[in-house]
Amino acid sequence: MSTFRAPKGTYDLIPPDSAAYLAVREAISAPLRRSGYGYVETPGFEHVELFSRGVGESTDIVTKEMYTLTTRGGDRLALRPEGTASVLRAALEASLHKAGNLPVKLWYSGSYYRYERPQAGRYRHFSQVGAEAIGAEDPALDAELIVLAADAYRSLGLRDVRLLLNSLGDQECRPGYRAVLQDFLRGLDLDEETLRRVEINPLRVLDDKREAVRKQLAGAPMMRDHLCEACKSFHERVRDLLTAAGVAFEDDPRLVRGLDYYTRTTFEFVHDGLGAQSAVGGGGRYDGLSEMIGGPALPSVGWALGVDRTVLALEAEGVTLDLPAATEVYAVPLGEEARDLLFGAVTALRRAGVAADLSYGGRGLKGAMKSANRSGARLALVAGERDLAEGVVQLKDLESGEQRAVPADGITAAVREALG
Ligand code: ATP
Ligand code: MG
Repeated sequence: MSTFRAPKGTYDLIPPDSAAYLAVREAISAPLRRSGYGYVETPGFEHVELFSRGVGESTDIVTKEMYTLTTRGGDRLALRPEGTASVLRAALEASLHKAGNLPVKLWYSGSYYRYERPQAGRYRHFSQVGAEAIGAEDPALDAELIVLAADAYRSLGLRDVRLLLNSLGDQECRPGYRAVLQDFLRGLDLDEETLRRVEINPLRVLDDKREAVRKQLAGAPMMRDHLCEACKSFHERVRDLLTAAGVAFEDDPRLVRGLDYYTRTTFEFVHDGLGAQSAVGGGGRYDGLSEMIGGPALPSVGWALGVDRTVLALEAEGVTLDLPAATEVYAVPLGEEARDLLFGAVTALRRAGVAADLSYGGRGLKGAMKSANRSGARLALVAGERDLAEGVVQLKDLESGEQRAVPADGITAAVREALG
């Protein structure tokens, strides 16, 4: 071991486990890539103000969880805690919304950083795949994104993911509801910090996980009962489209993303096998965000799914992914001359699209065969002096143990045939 360890709240992805992470990223992004979403990549850090405005001054993310730094040049930057604000910033900066092609549909994948109390499923560095559909107020877009996320989980073989759905209303109906909710909350027995939250961001209080608070929230007024007609019919359309697509959901009137520019549709995917960190992904409509960061009115909707927790969900359900073998053929040269020959053979196989590896470091037959078995390869190519003299190499099936000589100048063809 070196003198250094990974920083607190972080972990390394290493083989063979890292393969599952790649597969999860791939599985989440595949439905997006075939639905008109283009790939976007933004920097790992942004100006602090983008997040304080784009995520919200009163959120935990901005008040407690951001990694901030001041550069030598005096810029105040933050490691990105989430993706939406950056992606919207990038789309506005590139004027993607002006090309007369709304909605702008984008997807992303990357690392995010939050200074949290580390625990199972909650890290300081984690990974998300996300999608944003910018610039259209259409319930079919909300439904599309939710269906794509549900399809991604299903394609991974997850069965115990539940979708929670709610509507947060809009500028029309939320202010009235907010006032009614505040009246209710002010009458409760709450600590000082929560009381402050009642004044700044009362919806967020509904999300409080503490039992003492939850108990008092039993009779709280719900947004559901205060939606205006436009929000009600928008939400009905989303629900109908989900039902038609065969995506099950549970109405959760307490589900909030308590910021003023989050509007209407809000949802979360939860997995019951994950303990307290049950949210595997979440998202919703954010019709006011563009204006909050200095852009034009661009009603939008998006989600972000956590890669780390999705992998934990797979483990919790005992799902093993059907991953392609990292190595299909493993070559074992015995001697200098054989190494040159098999180096060439492995190069040719790789160029032909066959995953192939070679034993390096002049190891003996026994050690090299151990590596061949450990690599998961189906076939081994073994060549010694006698084989070379005869112009052949031995092709061994590592499952059945069967072995036969194949011509040294016909290795690729023989391997292809053996792999079927
Ligand atoms: P939570 O309520 O668990 O803190 P959140 O509301 O902060 O989640 P979002 O900002 O909506 O989470 O991020 C979307 C997804 O990213 C989450 O559903 C989760 O899967 C993942 N995620 C968020 N924070 C972390 C973290 N610290 N470690 C690992 N995954 C995370
Ligand atoms: Mg959080």
